[in-house]
Amino acid sequence: MSRQNQKALVLLSGGQDSTTCLHWAIREFGRDAVTAISFDYGQRHRIELECAAAVAEDAGVAHVCLPIDTFNALGGDALTESAIEVEGAIDDRTGLPNTFVPGRNLVFLTYAAAYAWQRDVPNLVTGVAQTDYSGYPDCREETIKALQQALRLGMESEVTIHTPLMHLSKKETVELARDLGALDAMALTHTCYNGTRPPCGQCPACRLRAKGFEEAGVSDPLVADV
Ligand code: ZN
Repeated sequence: MSRQNQKALVLLSGGQDSTTCLHWAIREFGRDAVTAISFDYGQRHRIELECAAAVAEDAGVAHVCLPIDTFNALGGDALTESAIEVEGAIDDRTGLPNTFVPGRNLVFLTYAAAYAWQRDVPNLVTGVAQTDYSGYPDCREETIKALQQALRLGMESEVTIHTPLMHLSKKETVELARDLGALDAMALTHTCYNGTRPPCGQCPACRLRAKGFEEAGVSDPLVADV
């Protein structure tokens, strides 16, 4: 069954993966059927939201940004608390990277599902991946499937959470972006944990991104342009 003109809501962080997902959704559902949604959750780097807006505008899709001001009050993670050093540290207690924001993806997808429910949008698209993933348990397929089931039950809906990158390596994600004609859009994205532009090139996020582009034999327009 063709998905064209079925409405879809893409969770857009302004990063490489969600930007690739946005272009995947445009191909699958049609540009006019796609809306992008971002969350202002007090992230350290406001540049993420600026990039998300730029990526959506460049792609020609509507973009909404919803505020969620609770994560800072929960405390303790490196992407919202500026005092915590990022550099790939592992939390002693949980064994997870200190960049893990507990509940973040679950909350984002739940808010996105509620937003979609109000507007009769049956498809959510998110760029989570369990391959090459940083050890985030909320990026696993098992988690997403369980959440989809909870949302269907809890909202009496037929919502589907699409995860086109779930089983792709970073290399394969770059290849998908290339095949979708989304490489130029990569120049607008933001990946660096240190929030610098041009990117620092040293943090775990920068290194993972660089490895993917290198293995795909594609030059990263974000780095090439600066
Ligand atoms: Zn970096």
